[in-house]
Amino acid sequence: MSNSIIANQAEHFFGDVCNNFDHAAQFTNHDAGLLDQIKSCNSVYRFRFPIRRGNGFEVIDAWRIEHSHHQSPTKGGIRYSEMVNEDEVMALAALMTYKCAIVNVPFGGAKGGIKINPKNYTLQELENITRRYTVELIKKNFIGPSVDVPAPDYGSGEREMGWIADTYATMNPGQLDALGAVTGKPLALHGIAGRREATGRGVAIAVRECVSVAEDMAKLGLTTGITGKKIIVQGLGNVGYHSAKFLTEFGGIIVGLCEFEGAIYNEDGLDVEEVFQHRKATGSILGFSGAKKEFKNSMEGLEQPCDILVPAALENQITEANIKNIKAKIIAEGANGPTTPGAEAAFYSKGGIIIPDMYANAGGVTVSYFEWLKNLSHVAFGRMNRRFEENSNLNLVNTVESITGISLSPIQRSSIIKGASELELVNSGLEDTMIRSYHEIRETYKSNSKIDTQRTAAFVGAINKIAVSYQNLGVWP
Ligand code: NAD
Repeated sequence: MSNSIIANQAEHFFGDVCNNFDHAAQFTNHDAGLLDQIKSCNSVYRFRFPIRRGNGFEVIDAWRIEHSHHQSPTKGGIRYSEMVNEDEVMALAALMTYKCAIVNVPFGGAKGGIKINPKNYTLQELENITRRYTVELIKKNFIGPSVDVPAPDYGSGEREMGWIADTYATMNPGQLDALGAVTGKPLALHGIAGRREATGRGVAIAVRECVSVAEDMAKLGLTTGITGKKIIVQGLGNVGYHSAKFLTEFGGIIVGLCEFEGAIYNEDGLDVEEVFQHRKATGSILGFSGAKKEFKNSMEGLEQPCDILVPAALENQITEANIKNIKAKIIAEGANGPTTPGAEAAFYSKGGIIIPDMYANAGGVTVSYFEWLKNLSHVAFGRMNRRFEENSNLNLVNTVESITGISLSPIQRSSIIKGASELELVNSGLEDTMIRSYHEIRETYKSNSKIDTQRTAAFVGAINKIAVSYQNLGVWP
């Protein structure tokens, strides 16, 4: 797809989100003005700043958009991409609001964008851009642990979040909670175990939950359970790589992988880690010896035979133009906005299911919430109770052994006695969130035959929760 086509489609992105909202709102019972308040973007900060480049200056375009303040702080990633525009950041900020409501994370939605291709800048330039972007946010009170808390998104990661944390802390000396101003930080800089892989792990849990419902799988003509399901993943970045990794761990077979430069396919399965290492070494997914087919046009990869398709790159990838060629019966949206409304309608009319972005990729913000809590409490999860738990478990095992006269093996003993690590607690909180939220959405979907998609159902739940917050807050003055 040409860049201009992608750009034009991206400019409809906020409109698409609002249309989905309006469609779902008819299944709620709220005042039109309240619905308008929920739907609107509250604060749009568009700014430009210079950096030094070569012998001169370069001006960088950037945004931070806070969509809803029904909960504070607001929360959302920062996208580094030359395709970023205001409409896209508004759409992504709105999706954050609904996403947080769906998974019961107490934040309003926000998003940031820096219009650059990070690959075209040196490390020093990227650091300068990130720090200057942070200072611009500080100047306008668009960042802070109780104000607005950024995180990684497309094109950014732990390294950038570390620079943001350091800049914020430096500019706010003595602020005790300064490191809670950004999440997705490196572990050594008060990040949290499991954040890096959280979005992909969440996508994999969402898929596992979806295919565990026998009634829904029977309608799709699929067996129940993830084992043996054939899966294609688009994008081998943070979300795509980890989705593929955990889907494989759960028993799925990754048959196709699509990246910028092309796609590869093998109906017997691809080793995700080997493909990742091959791409790292050669700079391309193509030429991987374990592939049986390869496609120079990456979009062809999406159309190969599979049960489940996980778009985990960018928006507007599955459109009315290619939906008829998609063989998958389930689309699990790792990326934000990968399916256009027309494509979604066509897919449902073919009898498919779409696990919507605002739920499917909510694992990232869920674990970001845990990181923020950790930063505010200044203690790692498990630190206070791990040894206590182990001693209690030890006493219990000793008592049971002495009453029954049965001795457990050392492996059995240690698995029962062991207290939970931070990673185990994070993963269990994430799993609980994803499982509960899936069934909440599914129940809404099933509750009314006019609710046409799981996305509509997810919106209905989100709108109802946000409406309650606004009603409780009242209007001041
Ligand atoms: P990333 O930068 O780590 O990876 C994106 C990958 O997609 C890159 O490897 C890139 O080369 C590839 N890609 C780009 N265009 C492509 C195309 N046309 N075909 C195939 N591959 C392509 O980004 P990410 O953090 O993994 O984010 C991906 C998506 O997930 C975005 O929509 C983002 O908003 C969403 N998301 C990310 C997070 C997170 O925690 N990082 C959380 C929620 C949602």
